[in-house]
Amino acid sequence: MDFTWTEDEDALRAELKSYIEDHLRPTWTHTDRDMPTQATVDEVIAFCQGLAERGLLIPAWPADYGGRDASLWEQTVISEELWGVGEPRGPQYMNVNWIGPAVRQLGSEEQRREYFAPIAAGEAMWCQGFSEPDSGSDLSSLKTAAVRDGEYYVVDGQKIWTSYAHAADYCFLLVRTAKSENPRRGISVLLVPMNLPGIEVREIPTLGVRHLVHEVFFTDVAVPAAYRLGGENEGWNIIRHLLASERVGNARHEWVDRSLDRLVDEALAADGVDTADSRFWETLGRAAAWTAASRVLNYAAVQAWADESKEYPNLAATYRASMAQMELGAAYAFVDVLGADGLVASSRGDYQLVGGTLSTIGGGSLEMQLNNVAWYQLGLPKG
Ligand SMILES: Cc1cc2nc3c(=O)[nH]c(=O)nc-3n(C[C@H](O)[C@H](O)[C@H](O)COP(=O)(O)OP(=O)(O)OC[C@H]3O[C@@H](n4cnc5c(N)ncnc54)[C@H](O)[C@@H]3O)c2cc1C
Repeated sequence: MDFTWTEDEDALRAELKSYIEDHLRPTWTHTDRDMPTQATVDEVIAFCQGLAERGLLIPAWPADYGGRDASLWEQTVISEELWGVGEPRGPQYMNVNWIGPAVRQLGSEEQRREYFAPIAAGEAMWCQGFSEPDSGSDLSSLKTAAVRDGEYYVVDGQKIWTSYAHAADYCFLLVRTAKSENPRRGISVLLVPMNLPGIEVREIPTLGVRHLVHEVFFTDVAVPAAYRLGGENEGWNIIRHLLASERVGNARHEWVDRSLDRLVDEALAADGVDTADSRFWETLGRAAAWTAASRVLNYAAVQAWADESKEYPNLAATYRASMAQMELGAAYAFVDVLGADGLVASSRGDYQLVGGTLSTIGGGSLEMQLNNVAWYQLGLPKG
């Protein structure tokens, strides 16, 4: 694999850096992307509108859909630069990576008309309604019911841990439309406007971060049947492929790389850190090695995505597992090197520990990711 960026990719990176420098609040942190206040929501939208105006929001989409057929590598450059500063697109990174492409691939003409314009303009906020109180790792056991009644589905049930639900215009919602012996059959995808009557969003209080996760309750919500994406009962196959793109689009290695650079600077400036001690460099070396490995696994998955290789979902799972380990490794490096000072509230180390811990659960737990690698990548027996 050739790791050299092309001149065009370097130019794109420079353009993004300059946009970020001019438009990102200097105090923006990676927890701001969870949009703790209305001001942060407004900032996220304004930032994305600016990207859209400059052709930097969805360049890898076909021209017919508002993009310019740029390569997935260009999309990766954009991901890296934005994750590197704490992902100021907020939830809109999901629009670019997988929600938009899913609607393009499977949506009706009417759905495309309705959903693309706001996504392309940088104005659409989506959330992902998958997990339920008793269905996380075992997602196929989900129970939120959608019962067909004429031209509508009547939806009843509860989702949990939903990020961005408080600010979302739409929910990419998984529902059960049929009961079957195989729980993976009978799941459908509904594209649900969050302002429909009967939807209630409640914040789940968490330590330190506001509006990180929510509960979303659905009580007799009438969702037009025309909002179903793809075939009825075919939701499982739809999300299996989509989730790979969600994982690969999270270029978190860039954030961690920059955090580790910052850690070195802080350690060199701090009193009481013995930088002559070989353990100091071993700790940093280990964290940097995790990060380099995760970056390379990300690139391997991007290439498989671009090649439409059958290996893509497996490589995406491998990358996802490495990402969580990288994040935790960096968090431990902060503590090992700076001690308690590495965890001062709202410091880079504090963010790293919170974010690192969350990344071993959110988007699928680390254990489940490792299971996927074992079964599908390495071919180990399920027992
Ligand atoms: C910050 C954050 C944001 C999130 N955002 C969203 C969101 O926007 N939308 C959404 O739908 N969900 C979201 N989630 C939910 C997330 O997808 C689930 O938390 C995750 O899939 C795990 O499910 P669970 O919490 O029910 O844990 P469980 O599935 O109950 O797992 C508990 C523990 O058991 C282990 N375990 C379970 N089954 C196995 C097995 N077969 N083999 C080995 N170990 C196993 C798990 O690894 C874990 O350690 C978010 C979670 C977090 C933390």
